[in-house]
Amino acid sequence: FDMFVLAFVERLFRPTYKKDDIVLGKKLGEGSFGSVYRVSLAKKPSSKGGGDLVLKRATEYGAVEIWMNERVRRACANSCADFLYGFLENSSKKGAEYWLLWRFEGEATLADLMQSREFPYNVEALILGEVQELPKGLDRENRIIQTIMGQLLFALDGLHSTGIVHRDIKPQNIIFSEGSRTFKIIDLGAAADLRVGINYIPKEFLLDPRYAAPEQYIMSTQTPSAPSAPVAAALSPVLWQLNLPDRFDIYSVGLIFLQMAFPGLRNDNSLIQFNRQLKRCDYDLVSWRQTVEPRAGPELRKGFELLDLDGGIGWELLTSMVRFKARRRISAKTALAHPYFDREGLLALSFIQ
Ligand code: ADP
Ligand code: MG
Repeated sequence: FDMFVLAFVERLFRPTYKKDDIVLGKKLGEGSFGSVYRVSLAKKPSSKGGGDLVLKRATEYGAVEIWMNERVRRACANSCADFLYGFLENSSKKGAEYWLLWRFEGEATLADLMQSREFPYNVEALILGEVQELPKGLDRENRIIQTIMGQLLFALDGLHSTGIVHRDIKPQNIIFSEGSRTFKIIDLGAAADLRVGINYIPKEFLLDPRYAAPEQYIMSTQTPSAPSAPVAAALSPVLWQLNLPDRFDIYSVGLIFLQMAFPGLRNDNSLIQFNRQLKRCDYDLVSWRQTVEPRAGPELRKGFELLDLDGGIGWELLTSMVRFKARRRISAKTALAHPYFDREGLLALSFIQ
């Protein structure tokens, strides 16, 4: 349990917060495992920094989420929303709750932004801080989507290199950070830290069926369940190589790529319908394409056209992420080196003017 001690010592030197410091604001989310509020501090001592915060009042999985956020803070801080502090709150009427505090990163999740008819140009404006004078068109949309995908894969690579699998990657759990003008990952409540065996047993009932990869268990059911922490720490690099649990997240981020390319697949119903079609095609995107393309409407055709740009490297990347076998899916790090990212993204585009 040395890691717990280390984490505790590190926290001694950071500002701490308690219930009375926090003034509840608007409710941002309500899940089955807790509620999320925008909050402010009752008084703002400079040592704690001012500004808006986000509070999650969580039940049973709060302890895991605090652990994951502490790990992220020390190992790959840029991947996720800026975590400030987590504690057990006993005095609330609902019984014991874990309270978690983050910096308020911004108003919009990727889900909010994707619902807008302006997508992806609304994201371009957020990232660049201005609207481009360039004509709208597929090529520009592709560059914006490429930039978003690059940011998502960068954040995911940070988590995976730390040994964390998120397991609930979806547009609702990706926040646009107005400070850094990049997308960051949130909601580590379903995450697993395989290096130390925290949350080792997959909680498959936590998985969101809209974005979950077809494999039910992220670690093979052959592997021994829940070894003690030291045993898991020694075993996990081996288990990681055997099972490639990170590829579960890659499938989910592949579906996000698909939704960004195909406007017609951005709403829940059409995504669920797509999942059914893909299953019928044995999770083979190429045969899905063969079935739908001949009778495709303008929105589907637009997606294929976008992914076919530059010799079809977008389509190539998509098909290397959304595959039945986890083993055959590309890793986040390898995806970042894919030719799809060879072209200059958004930031370079803004210098052309
Ligand atoms: P859950 O899905 O368990 O309710 P999340 O951690 O996903 O909890 O948070 C719920 C919502 O709160 C998010 O979809 C997002 O809109 C908002 N939110 C969460 N964390 C932040 C943050 N750091 N900054 C801004 N908004 C946030
Ligand atoms: Mg969430």
